[in-house]
Amino acid sequence: MTELQPNRPPLQPSAMIPLALGAVQPRGWLRDQCRLQADGLTGHLESAWPDLGPDNMWLGGRTEGWERGPYYLDGLVPLAYILDDAPLKARAQRWIESILSMQTADGWIGPVEAPGRKPYDPWPIFILMKVLTQYHDAVGDPRVIPFLSAFCGYLARNLEAQPLRDWGQHRWADGVLSIHWLYNRTGDENLLDVARILAVQGYDWRLHFADFHYTSKTPREACILPTHVVNNAMAIKSGGVWWRQSGDPDDRQSVYQAIAMLDRYHGQATGIFTGDEHYAGLEPTQGAELCAVVEYMYSLEELLAILGDPALADRLERIACNALPGTCTADMWAHQYDQQANQTLCTIAPRPWTNNLDDSNIYGLEPNFGCCTANYHQGWPKLVRHLWMATPEGGLAAVAYGPSELSATVGGVPVRIHEETEYPFKGEIRLRIDPSSPLRFPLALRVPAWAGAAEWTARTKDRPEERAVAEAGWCTMERVWHAGDTITLRIPMEVRREVRSRGAVVLHRGPLVFSLPIGIERTLIKGVPAPKPGERSPDWELRPTTPWNYALHADGPMRIHERSVSGIPFDPENPPVTLEVVGRRVPGWTMQENNAGPVPASPVQTHEADETLRLVPYGSAPLRITEFPVCPE
Ligand SMILES: [Zn+2]
Repeated sequence: MTELQPNRPPLQPSAMIPLALGAVQPRGWLRDQCRLQADGLTGHLESAWPDLGPDNMWLGGRTEGWERGPYYLDGLVPLAYILDDAPLKARAQRWIESILSMQTADGWIGPVEAPGRKPYDPWPIFILMKVLTQYHDAVGDPRVIPFLSAFCGYLARNLEAQPLRDWGQHRWADGVLSIHWLYNRTGDENLLDVARILAVQGYDWRLHFADFHYTSKTPREACILPTHVVNNAMAIKSGGVWWRQSGDPDDRQSVYQAIAMLDRYHGQATGIFTGDEHYAGLEPTQGAELCAVVEYMYSLEELLAILGDPALADRLERIACNALPGTCTADMWAHQYDQQANQTLCTIAPRPWTNNLDDSNIYGLEPNFGCCTANYHQGWPKLVRHLWMATPEGGLAAVAYGPSELSATVGGVPVRIHEETEYPFKGEIRLRIDPSSPLRFPLALRVPAWAGAAEWTARTKDRPEERAVAEAGWCTMERVWHAGDTITLRIPMEVRREVRSRGAVVLHRGPLVFSLPIGIERTLIKGVPAPKPGERSPDWELRPTTPWNYALHADGPMRIHERSVSGIPFDPENPPVTLEVVGRRVPGWTMQENNAGPVPASPVQTHEADETLRLVPYGSAPLRITEFPVCPE
């Protein structure tokens, strides 16, 4: 694993520094989740999907050759290294060797722009740069830095004559990110000039959000690249990434303006915003594309390192624990293109998307379009990598929580930290700190804003047991740590009510959003459920078998039941935590246009009898109601 690299002046100093890829390994339920992914579609994609098969242009073949290979590697590389999985590493290496062999004498990389193939487009290479920086962060391959430097030299010589366009113009921050990574390692100031050209040629997202015109669902004829959901999810990081170089506080602040505008006009309870696949408003039946889910997560992970703001980690966990599992099958063999918070029917049928196709919400191999099939693999492994970061003061920070094991070097001394927890399903987190020799360093723990405060207990070798309450934000403990010292953090998991349009309510507990699970009839429409090599993976349609049109007594009695997390963490049959509430049917709330109709305004009049309802985590409910009308009390 490679050395940490804080920002090199004149870049603004890092708030936190990401650790080497592989320093954090998942344990417990998070390992099970990552293994399901590796043993599901991710680990079989090359045989299941011709686009990424041996004939892919990035492997020297004749198909695709644009963004799909780089997207896949952007998830495969971190998955292979956080799991320390030799077959996955070998598979990634085959692509990397092929790509490293593809540089032309002028620095260009790969099949795009080759005669008779695709036109000039640096966009897929921006993704590839992220792949190679991660690969370098895992193994320190000495070929990577000269390879990326030569490509940046190509950009320096050619951007004026061939400026950014289309996707690359709206995703320029993803290029700048890797150029800064390279500058931190080489100190070549020409790189900052290349980054500046990308920022100047790139779309002005700061202005876009400062003067935000897109306050409702995009009409089909008005869909343009600035209203595209994935461009926006990537752009959330742009103000922070560019602030490193500009030093302009308005760039830094523009991150919060972007998040606020997306929340206010297009936000969903899971922390994501709608786009199916352009801005689609606040209705819980509009779709959110899977690419946008994983790209929003990645933007937040980079922003956490740049800004160090714990609120960004609250958001990261909310998206990761709900929107990500909610749009994949629990066995990780199939995914949607568009997910819905109120999702009552997943079939091939017309729905009022902005411009997506009829199959966008089925769970399958390639619903609507194959970008998500290539791109969603980064979600879980990059989350694992960013659970912990280093701090510039020479300490470590628990940025987000999940069962894991950290191996880092602090002041030259190896340190391991075991994190044992069933968070986000339960609120207790136990850390065991094992420096290889006694060592003084600050350890920062994040207390989520939604918790208000959390109680911690430290049992350390050279002090009596300590117990204290920490307010939301960073709780930093600096002392000499000895092998076997422990800290237990207890984050209160109170149920919270979020009020949404027309008085609808959503229930949250910790980072989890709760939904009413609807009974499901599954129809296999293509492939086989657990395919062997060479067989097609499944496409499923889901139809409801139980009623879903309930209003809640939102202030009524609630009971929480916790169980151990099963080997399939988001198994609909076995949710680790359930919430018992009381509600009533609303007979007038029916299906419209193959979706649940608009949530009736609250309080809603209904004379039906009270029923006890069992809500489960959003990610455990493939068919669900998440936004409920409220019964009068
Ligand atoms: Zn996509």
